Amino acid sequence: MKATIVTIGDEILIGQILDTNSRYISQALNRIGVVVAERTSIGDSAEQITQTLTRALESTDIVIITGGLGPTKDDITKHTLARYFGSELVYNAEVGEFVRTLLERRGIAFNDLNRGQAMVPKCCTVLHNAHGTAPGMWFEQDDKVVVSLPGVPFEMEHLIDDSVIPMLKARFELKAIVHRTMITSGIAESLLAERIAAWEDALPDVLHLAYLPAPNVVRLRLSAYEVEQSEAEALIDSQFEALRQIIPEAVVGFEGATVEQAVHNWMVANRCTLSVAESCTGGNIASKFTAMAGASAYFNAGVVSYSNEAKCDILGVNGEDIARYGAVSETVALQMAQGARRAGRSDYAIATTGIAGPTGGSAEKPVGTVWIAIATPTKCFAVLKNCGTDRRQIIDRATAYAIKLLYDNL
Ligand code: ATP
Ligand code: MG
Repeated sequence: MKATIVTIGDEILIGQILDTNSRYISQALNRIGVVVAERTSIGDSAEQITQTLTRALESTDIVIITGGLGPTKDDITKHTLARYFGSELVYNAEVGEFVRTLLERRGIAFNDLNRGQAMVPKCCTVLHNAHGTAPGMWFEQDDKVVVSLPGVPFEMEHLIDDSVIPMLKARFELKAIVHRTMITSGIAESLLAERIAAWEDALPDVLHLAYLPAPNVVRLRLSAYEVEQSEAEALIDSQFEALRQIIPEAVVGFEGATVEQAVHNWMVANRCTLSVAESCTGGNIASKFTAMAGASAYFNAGVVSYSNEAKCDILGVNGEDIARYGAVSETVALQMAQGARRAGRSDYAIATTGIAGPTGGSAEKPVGTVWIAIATPTKCFAVLKNCGTDRRQIIDRATAYAIKLLYDNL
């Protein structure tokens, strides 16, 4: 069964708000096995609504629309739908009484505009909106279903969960959609694709592979649409097990797994401690760890040593080495990591020093140059990375590289 999601509102088109409704509805439909074939956003225009609905019903069985149901004149969805289905608007006393009570409780007088909210197309099934004044509407025509919901996310979500999803499950015989995502780190997307090409080529037709890259992470998602759930799950599990044999060093886990979570788990399990000294990443590495509940078990200290003086005073970096090699150098990175390990009295330490830009680069050390150092109980070493050209990108990539470098050396 295929669906189209249509979100209505000029505010979406001009970028004033983010269309979060589509995401919520997509997730809900996926869970019950409805394939979302298309998502589209259109303006508050009767012509656009009619055109989009006509087109959507040509290729999909279910159309879910949000927005444009309010009492104000710019909200035209309801009138347009009534016309589309050749129906008229009639007063629904149940909705009217509910809206009146709801408004009275809020100390607002029931006026003609609110009365208008209880006007619904005669041909639709009204979906009770317990949290707002605009009801949802369910239309059926030629074995297809069109649902119109208010745009307010909170109201839309309740209507999806309490009415639309149960009604779709009852109305259609739905199969399952199964997604599973493997998290890999440390192999660039193109190299990864090369290494797993044979595995990918041999995937059964029912499975679809997607690559989702993030800084130093590639998520590999296998999806199966409209299948028998347990069969598809078993198939995906066996394929991922085969993949693990091909890239064992890159597999971090599944679904929401992160490299920092893997480090966290290792530190807790092995009763070891960690400190970080950051220059160009400005606390981003520390915040990745401290964002995880339970980090206090191993995370001892994070120093943002941005100035040369701070590197010397707090971490014991040698000022003469800074003058000789520069703050962005292997020598300084190593001394920062050792200093963090010592000052934080920890078993492990990470240090970063680099040029996040946009200024400060040179021919020898361009923007994006980052030295990352790791100190462990047995060794201390540094790696030079080019982390890109944009400040945010450089910080994110340096953070990701640094945490993975530690992980690889635990
Ligand atoms: P109301 O009865 O409150 O007028 P409505 O059905 O008319 O509801 P809209 O006027 O389209 O809904 O939107 C109301 C508010 O809901 C918008 O101001 C916006 O903040 C939010 N909203 C609307 N559509 C979306 C969407 N697709 N994603 C996220 N938020 C949305
Ligand atoms: Mg609106």
